[in-house]
Amino acid sequence: MKKTTGMDRTTTRQWRPATRAVRGGTWRSEHGETSEAMFLTSGYTYDDAQTVADRFAGDAKGMTYSRLQNPTVAMLEERVALLEGAEACRAQASGMAAMTAALLCQLSSGDHVVAARAAFGSCRWLVDHLLPRFGIETTVIGSAVDEEWEKAIRPNTRVFFFETPANPTLDVVDLKYVCDLAKAHGITTVVDNAFASPALQRPMEFGADVVAYSATKLMDGQGRVLAGAVCGTQEWIDEVLLPFQRNTGPNLSPFNAWVVHKGLETLSLRAHHQSRSAVALGEFLEPRIAKAGGHMRHPGLPSHPRHELALGQMEATGPIFAFDVGTRERAFAILDAMELIDISNNIGDARSLMCHPASTTHANMGEEARGEMGVTEGLLRINVGLEDIEDLKEDMDRALKAAGI
Ligand SMILES: *Cc1c(COP(=O)(O)O)cnc(C)c1O
Repeated sequence: MKKTTGMDRTTTRQWRPATRAVRGGTWRSEHGETSEAMFLTSGYTYDDAQTVADRFAGDAKGMTYSRLQNPTVAMLEERVALLEGAEACRAQASGMAAMTAALLCQLSSGDHVVAARAAFGSCRWLVDHLLPRFGIETTVIGSAVDEEWEKAIRPNTRVFFFETPANPTLDVVDLKYVCDLAKAHGITTVVDNAFASPALQRPMEFGADVVAYSATKLMDGQGRVLAGAVCGTQEWIDEVLLPFQRNTGPNLSPFNAWVVHKGLETLSLRAHHQSRSAVALGEFLEPRIAKAGGHMRHPGLPSHPRHELALGQMEATGPIFAFDVGTRERAFAILDAMELIDISNNIGDARSLMCHPASTTHANMGEEARGEMGVTEGLLRINVGLEDIEDLKEDMDRALKAAGI
């Protein structure tokens, strides 16, 4: 199979981002199909015994088994790497498969990890429960306080692991500061970039080593499939990630890869439009939330403590923000009164979705950890979709009134 675009990878890399999103990672078959083909195959056949022997020995290029390579998955990996500006990418079965692989592939018993306190619930479970079971020490810190990173470093610190903006408190980490600090101490930074996607923020431009994704979110963008991805240098992917992935098998199905691959064609348009709507909705809500004694957590608004930093490291601040309405009763009253916005815990979707993190995405971690993280009983998190902003404002207006706000 050849790439009938006539472009090799080097040429492709000269394309600007919008072109990369629709043209990058297109391998056409002999049929010359316009839209990328889906290769639903677990294995491959060979013309002769020597061919397969050469491929297994690594002396010849070519696919051998879909846990190792698949054309549809490879097309997605190439497109994600191009958008990220990364040398290489490997797709994973889900965002959590990506985070688990990115951490376990490089850590050993006796190592130490510094991680952000504000994080997706399952990411915190990896840090708080899984890694310590294998003798890997972990320290969680307030990731938006620069000094805490340096203070937490020990001689055996191997990895910094964080999200920015973080789920669901929208804490913003100073990418340049933290990545420079890590480099100076020989520490690998693993950034979970799910909230931004490569359309809005490319952590490698600030020195990040590894960028990991839940592609379930903005990359698919239409709430259809679970998917993940890990980006890094070619050497890191080949030497560190691949041995782990090939032998443990957190692979993405070609079907899901194809869905995400198509999603990437419209990623930038969606991410920017949703970011603009999120700022507009945040501006609409802020005075009413403030008057009711609550507060907004929105990196796109000047009231966010790291608003300027967010604007400096992101192209736009993303579709997700959170706001506190004081009590669980009020939060539930708002959710129950919405007629357009769905109650749902997904994010990055083209539909507007809202959830109560303390009773859903962050329920498992317990009250104390939630308190430290700032996931209060009155906190609501919204993913602003592609609907007309006026319809969203009307729905929020109705819901706030129902909660007496
Ligand atoms: C959703 C999410 C994950 C997990 O991704 P899945 O695709 O659901 O496994 C990890 N990190 C962040 C920040 C997320 O939002």
